[in-house]
Amino acid sequence: MKNKKRSIFSVVAILLVLSVVLSGFLPTDIFSQSFAETNNTFNGEAPKYIFLFIGDGMSFPQISAAEMYLGAQKHTATPEIKALDFTNFPATGVAATYDSDSFIPDSASTGTSIASGIKTGNGIINMDPQKKANVDPITRDLKDMGYKIGVVSNVPINHATPAVFYANQESRNNYYEIALQLAESDFDYFAGGGINDAEGKNSKITNSENVIDIAKKNGFKVVSTKEEILALNNTSGKVLATSPRLQDSNAMPYEMDRKAGELSLSDFVRKGIDVLDNPKGYFMMVESGKIDWANHANDAAASIHDTIEFNNAIMEAYKVYEKYPNDTLIIVTGDHECGGLTIGFAGTAYDTFFNKLEKQTMSYVEFDNILSEYKKVTAPEKETLEDILPKIKSAFGLMTATDEDAKKMPELVLTAAEEARLRDALKRSMQKKEDRDFSDQEKILYGTYEPLSVTLTHILNNKAGLAFTTYSHTGLPVPVYAVGVGQELFIGSYDNTDIYKKMASIMNIQ
Ligand SMILES: [Zn+2]
Repeated sequence: MKNKKRSIFSVVAILLVLSVVLSGFLPTDIFSQSFAETNNTFNGEAPKYIFLFIGDGMSFPQISAAEMYLGAQKHTATPEIKALDFTNFPATGVAATYDSDSFIPDSASTGTSIASGIKTGNGIINMDPQKKANVDPITRDLKDMGYKIGVVSNVPINHATPAVFYANQESRNNYYEIALQLAESDFDYFAGGGINDAEGKNSKITNSENVIDIAKKNGFKVVSTKEEILALNNTSGKVLATSPRLQDSNAMPYEMDRKAGELSLSDFVRKGIDVLDNPKGYFMMVESGKIDWANHANDAAASIHDTIEFNNAIMEAYKVYEKYPNDTLIIVTGDHECGGLTIGFAGTAYDTFFNKLEKQTMSYVEFDNILSEYKKVTAPEKETLEDILPKIKSAFGLMTATDEDAKKMPELVLTAAEEARLRDALKRSMQKKEDRDFSDQEKILYGTYEPLSVTLTHILNNKAGLAFTTYSHTGLPVPVYAVGVGQELFIGSYDNTDIYKKMASIMNIQ
């Protein structure tokens, strides 16, 4: 025993000596090289038309899921993806997303990094981590240089990601103060979702005036019907255009819930190109915030449909590139991953069944509405899953073994365990929110979502071979794609603050 101990000590001693000797042959600090080599210097002439597309909550899993879903629709014998067009852009890179607080950032901190080039903390809009000093987003420099500025989002236009392109606030939740900065800005095109807290009810400012009235006084043309929006052009002046239909929390509808003829994110990008058109050029930031919201709710089908529509919106900008290839730059990235989505689930081992997601005909939000109608007419404790099975079948394709189509579509039949999960979730959904038990286990099962709806998306996702780990963001890096003037700077691996530095150099901002 004694001898054995001694021999372990001598092995350790030899290893220690060896490691000291060997370290002399290694670079002194192998970590110092991490981001130092990315090229942030551009020497050419600045482009006139710059598009920055940010898929909120969009990283590799969201893009891959959409590409595999589209590929599966080809029904080929072996797996085939259908690439989203922007993934074929000539320059591809990877950006780190952590912020000054955490490896798991939010849209305020990551947006600040992309728009203004600094690391800051969760929830902060264009201020340093101590919330002492403001930083200017790239849009202000570009405006000073004569470019017109557009900010487009399918979630509220004073939500964190659009806000980092025109506001400075200690907290992303200062919605009224952010909207005030929008109304007081000299930017040219704000479009998409509505305005949170437009009247300032949640603001510390007393006697707050409706920001829409302030925007009008400051010369904004405020429009919210389809006819008015489609009639906009480059003589319209400063524009605030809000989607005629807002679905949840002042956001445009999920793409899978958008009815024929209703305006899409692509429509707002196409219209922005008309409105911003001028000889000096323009910068347009376009966010798909609904990709993020779908992933928070663990609704894979909604995420896929909004990612596909995001690609359509990008292709509107690509038409500008095709017309003016020497004067255009398009950058596409995400701000962070959301949901911990992955492709692969224990229950389906080495297989996926993306076609099952085609059976989902509405987002979880629309199903929540169906459920709240049911709650209105059903006393608690009187609920039974049988009442809702027809709605579940038409919304998610799922059915019980006794369903008339069960033999035809066995792959969509609920197992006994899945059925039990749904019965339990329905019970929870019938409870008043204040009576619900948000214990740790409950938080993991349902997050803050409607228990029945989120259990249905979980079951369908898992049957398709997909799974989520969280209702929040994750620490994954994000891809960056670029085409046009300065595209080569976006190749490689770098920090999200480098995206700003690259854009600033390409635009000759000192
Ligand atoms: Zn989010």
